[in-house]
Amino acid sequence: MADSTRPKAIRPRVDRKARFQIPPQPFAKQPAAERRCNWNEVVLGFDAEHAVLEAQRCIQCPAAPCITACPLHNDIPGALWLAEQGDFLGAASKFRETSTMPDVCGRICPQERLCEGACVVNKSPHKKPVAIGKLEFFVADTQRRALGGFPVPSIPPETGKRVAVVGAGPAGITVAEMLRSRGHAVTVFEAWPRIGGILLYGIPNFKLDKAVVWQKLAQLEQMGVQFEGNVRVGETLTVDGLLEQGYDAVFLGHGAPVGASPHLPGEDLAGVSQATDFLVRGNLPPEHLPPQQQDGPRLGQRVVVVGGGDTSMDCVRTAVRLGAQEVTLCYRRTEAEMPGRGEERNHAREEGVRFEYLVAPRRILGDDAGRVCGIELVRMELGEPDASGRRRPVEVPGSEFTLAADTVVLAVGYWADPLIPETTAGLEAGRDARLAVDVGTGATSRPGVFAGGDSVRGADLVVTAVADAKRAARAIHEYLTGEVWEANELED
Ligand SMILES: Cc1cc2nc3c(=O)[nH]c(=O)nc-3n(C[C@H](O)[C@H](O)[C@H](O)COP(=O)(O)OP(=O)(O)OC[C@H]3O[C@@H](n4cnc5c(N)ncnc54)[C@H](O)[C@@H]3O)c2cc1C
Repeated sequence: MADSTRPKAIRPRVDRKARFQIPPQPFAKQPAAERRCNWNEVVLGFDAEHAVLEAQRCIQCPAAPCITACPLHNDIPGALWLAEQGDFLGAASKFRETSTMPDVCGRICPQERLCEGACVVNKSPHKKPVAIGKLEFFVADTQRRALGGFPVPSIPPETGKRVAVVGAGPAGITVAEMLRSRGHAVTVFEAWPRIGGILLYGIPNFKLDKAVVWQKLAQLEQMGVQFEGNVRVGETLTVDGLLEQGYDAVFLGHGAPVGASPHLPGEDLAGVSQATDFLVRGNLPPEHLPPQQQDGPRLGQRVVVVGGGDTSMDCVRTAVRLGAQEVTLCYRRTEAEMPGRGEERNHAREEGVRFEYLVAPRRILGDDAGRVCGIELVRMELGEPDASGRRRPVEVPGSEFTLAADTVVLAVGYWADPLIPETTAGLEAGRDARLAVDVGTGATSRPGVFAGGDSVRGADLVVTAVADAKRAARAIHEYLTGEVWEANELED
């Protein structure tokens, strides 16, 4: 239950007025000058002493709007109560009751739009919410350090049922973990060589330490989940083929991997990249990449990135670390309309990235050798709100100008891939290739085939992919066994 009908939990009585006076606690972060030259995580987080004090800022309000605002409905006040007693392992376990990856969500969720945005402590004299995300990853990391990895549940006797999961991103690996924990045999088929989805093939290490992804893989392997990399379902192996091979159910968690194009003249010039190609070449060692992407990005000194979301911020900050002298982000609205996280924008600014707001690209300019040498942009102003509720950018006539550039990266969004709906008879999808599902269960139009995450929503968030996957895993278990898998009382 995620709405106002959720029963109010009995919370410990605390002195709320006194707690409102506790200032936000400091956490460690790499200085900008240092982190420009390395790929390590920028936010190092709390130490134990400050984690306890920060957790004490939670006023344990019974209505807990933070729980409602979290797509996983984590029992945040419950976890923070344990954390403030110094019971970090208990707090981590509390998060893990409803989340397969608090270690990831704590680091990269847009908390300001979710739990922290709803936090009542925003109204304290300090006007800063409890740092829920940083506490979440602090306790989750503390637990992983204590255990040497993610906790591995004991697996019940095999049920004899086999499930194929397509895509090893947050949605796919959540379904795999949950169904394996019920004794079903699970095989994950993944197009990239390794598991992780965008957690590996997109989000850079400076935002999410890849050790977390490798430990997740180790946990799943210890549980007995099988992985097959370099398999793009829909090519040699199809969904129907998987069912014919005897899989009893299929989960489609193939994400929204197709980079959108602004259809600019000059997009085919050397030195112009799509965001994912730029990010994987820039951030990953060759052994994690297919042969055709193992040669690193071709980077010039002046880099222009077009876009405004999390992906564009990851691109500019990757360009800084690759040694570019001048990195500019171009976005067609203002900062207030930017969809990505404010904290990441601040990090980019601190690292020397220049922001050009209210500009849209017209064409990419090339030299005689067919290499990019600049980008023509036009200034915009904000008009009436569009369907998204954000004010629509409108061109200012005669305001064209040019920025010199040796590298242009296009980070203007992602679409779902039509390959799977096109190769699976009777699998309903929209014109934009997003799969049609029952929202409560993730069931598609094909019996025994379920879906969730970006393959259904389009490009969204890790936490929503995990939430979809949990609903689908419960529904698949019920489909396979007839047994109802009750959700935690806080959940949908
Ligand atoms: C650069 C970048 C930065 C982001 N930053 C954030 C952030 O800071 N915070 C946040 O919450 N979200 C962020 N997101 C969004 C978030 O990563 C996604 O919403 C989330 O990963 C979706 O999970 P998923 O499992 O549905 O899909 P994915 O993570 O995309 O995983 C899908 C997997 O399926 C595989 N696949 C695709 N087609 C096939 C096929 N035919 N056969 C087999 N495998 C296939 C893909 O290779 C991929 O590994 C970011 C996205 C990008 C691109």
